[in-house]
Amino acid sequence: MAISRYTSESEYHLNTTRPDGTHESIPCKVIKSRRRSYTISVDTGGAITLRVPLYAPASAIAEILQEKSDWILLRRMEALRLLAAKPQSEYTDAQRTLLEKRYRRAASEYFPKRVQYYEHLMGVHHTRIAIRDQKTRWGSCSSNGTLSFNWRLMLAPPHILDYVVVHELCHLIHMDHSAAFWKTVESVMPDYRECRQWLRVHGQELIL
Ligand SMILES: [Zn+2]
Repeated sequence: MAISRYTSESEYHLNTTRPDGTHESIPCKVIKSRRRSYTISVDTGGAITLRVPLYAPASAIAEILQEKSDWILLRRMEALRLLAAKPQSEYTDAQRTLLEKRYRRAASEYFPKRVQYYEHLMGVHHTRIAIRDQKTRWGSCSSNGTLSFNWRLMLAPPHILDYVVVHELCHLIHMDHSAAFWKTVESVMPDYRECRQWLRVHGQELIL
């Protein structure tokens, strides 16, 4: 398909054999433009583009594709592997920003309620609550009694969020992770081990 006098785009195919013996025809976009060199690129979605000089003959294009086919296929496989491994978000950046704002607001209303509930049960008192966004921390407790919680816990089951609240409140009694600390956690939440395990396994999924 001709786009203009100085650029044209066409599709070639790279024929390859899969490990199971079946054939695969991989599309490769060829863009001709006023340039001197040949450049091949494989984008993050695995799409292949070959940029060539305006008057490159078809035989030269076929030859370069053949010559570089191993490199192209390796790059493409790697791109597709990374794509499959990456957790996919169904939101755009703008939607995610808006949603995060809402979750943060909900978190600053919800966490104080849960803190109050468990403080009453445990007979401890905090001074301040902060809602944060930490990639790897769910909560923290400072020596002056400030409790910090990760808003992403709003995406977790309520009992998991409660576990983090209980965990941080127990730090108002024990500022370490000693056996005595865990005993206190257990006295409030006997199944805390499952909650810890849940966070280990699913924590990374708490993203928008
Ligand atoms: Zn802790």
